[in-house]
Amino acid sequence: MTIAAGAGKKKRSGSTARTFVNTNPVTGDEIATFQITTPDEVNAAVARARAASAAWKNTPLERRLQILAEMKAVIARNGESYARRISEETGKPLVDSLMTELMSVPIFIDYYIKHADRVLRRRRVRTPILFPGKSSHIEHFPMGVIGVISPWNFPFQLAMVPVLSALIAGNTVVLKPSEVTPVSGEIIREIFAAISIPVGAVQVIQGDGSTGAALVEADVDKIFFTGSVATGRRVMAAAAAKPIPVELELGGKDAMIICADANLKRAAKAAVWGGLVNCGQMCVSVERILVVDEVHDEFVRLLAAEVDKVRQGAPDEHADIGPMIFGRQVEVVDAHVRDARERGAVILSGGEIPDGPGQYYPPTLVTGVTAEMDIYREETFGPVLPVVRCRDEAHAIELANDHQYGLNGSVWTRDISRGMALASQIEAGQVSVNDLVASVGNPAIPFGGVKNSGFGRYHGAEGLLSFSHTRSLMVDRGFLPTEPFWFPYAQKYPHMVGAFRGLLRNNMPKALASLIRLQRISLRAAKD
Ligand code: NAD
Repeated sequence: MTIAAGAGKKKRSGSTARTFVNTNPVTGDEIATFQITTPDEVNAAVARARAASAAWKNTPLERRLQILAEMKAVIARNGESYARRISEETGKPLVDSLMTELMSVPIFIDYYIKHADRVLRRRRVRTPILFPGKSSHIEHFPMGVIGVISPWNFPFQLAMVPVLSALIAGNTVVLKPSEVTPVSGEIIREIFAAISIPVGAVQVIQGDGSTGAALVEADVDKIFFTGSVATGRRVMAAAAAKPIPVELELGGKDAMIICADANLKRAAKAAVWGGLVNCGQMCVSVERILVVDEVHDEFVRLLAAEVDKVRQGAPDEHADIGPMIFGRQVEVVDAHVRDARERGAVILSGGEIPDGPGQYYPPTLVTGVTAEMDIYREETFGPVLPVVRCRDEAHAIELANDHQYGLNGSVWTRDISRGMALASQIEAGQVSVNDLVASVGNPAIPFGGVKNSGFGRYHGAEGLLSFSHTRSLMVDRGFLPTEPFWFPYAQKYPHMVGAFRGLLRNNMPKALASLIRLQRISLRAAKD
């Protein structure tokens, strides 16, 4: 990221506005200059979103979905041009911009068109015997204005999916995209401007951490944050002071467990894709490859062959991976690899920042990784495949779980039931057998982390419920003048004891008989 001269405090003639520029990670050229939204402007944006709230939440769900579905035509029309702009600011291949960023819109809209009503509509649940004559219901209602703060690695998808989910649930939204990737935020702004959603329902505010902090302080009803653990802690502390709910989607250090009976060829291809796609800048990237001793050497040989085939370069139609999106991340990756080398790991390929322009770090395969290395303990978030030799599967599970992060994990074996049993032992929000990463794009299942990977879930039913308040509704027809438990209490105690004991001993006839007696006493008293 480059903040314009003056560390983001550039004064233009006659203006005190702060600005930042974003740059092309391949060429280093400036793409555009953006104003940093001030706290007053943030408050004004939130006020506009609040003003739009009544119109949007009172729009029937079916109509809300119809309006949002207009986005599909906008993206079908402009998708390739959006993809080029996303690739220009991130350096990611056009394939990734189309398929992992823009494709999220039709996938999630189509899923919620089919399922949102089932998730959000009022439902009746059974009423316990203690409440005779009443019915019980659960319903959901929008929270109000949601603040969405997003990162730079999937700048479109990780902003758009929570924004869409919040809107479908009936909220209005203020989005603060990452200052590293503001163009993706502008694309989101343009898409919403092209559909018939009420004015103000989606606000995009550009800026850096100060703008994000101002959004948490503003009059929002929930913050949905995706980013690093350090920032997540700050966001949560600020939200706690209000208090408002927060959802934190944070980092990961995903374990990939290779069993002795795995399809090693598939697993090697998967590891290389899962660890290097998006240049490894992915919260669900493969960051620890735990291989059982029996197949370790054979697997590393296959892995090395696959790494050699990866094409890195500018985002044309041939590159598999591009440069790093965020220049400073190159230094983090390099520091992790250097630390690993110094502590005895072997760098089988890559491992050096290349000369020349562009924020490149090469695909890097590291073996002999051990638990004390930074590359094992910390999120690397780069194109690095750290391989750890394990005694057996039990050892691999132990290592997978003995970690600060718990976002995703996978198990590779030909024995599906053993694979599922092992996967179910991984302490993570998502696990797969003989597959990886795919669950993040599957709209039907919830996504989120445990431990330092955060908490809360979106996608699936949870993706709408997490942007809704739950309201319980009890209904009595209101025919009777009184209730068994209302005043007066006189003469009721022995029958209360009867109901109490009946319920505790699971003797429902006794409990019911006592309740009827209590009601008779109440009704007699009501006549007086
Ligand atoms: P980051 O924490 O630096 O920034 C994230 C966002 O927070 C940005 O928009 C930033 O401007 C904003 N921000 C900074 N300071 C703030 C403050 N004090 N208050 C409010 N907002 C503030 O993260 P990043 O570098 O953009 O993203 C990379 C991280 O995100 C990695 O750790 C990655 O694993 C994680 N991530 C997690 C998921 C997930 O779903 N779990 C997905 C993608 C990325």
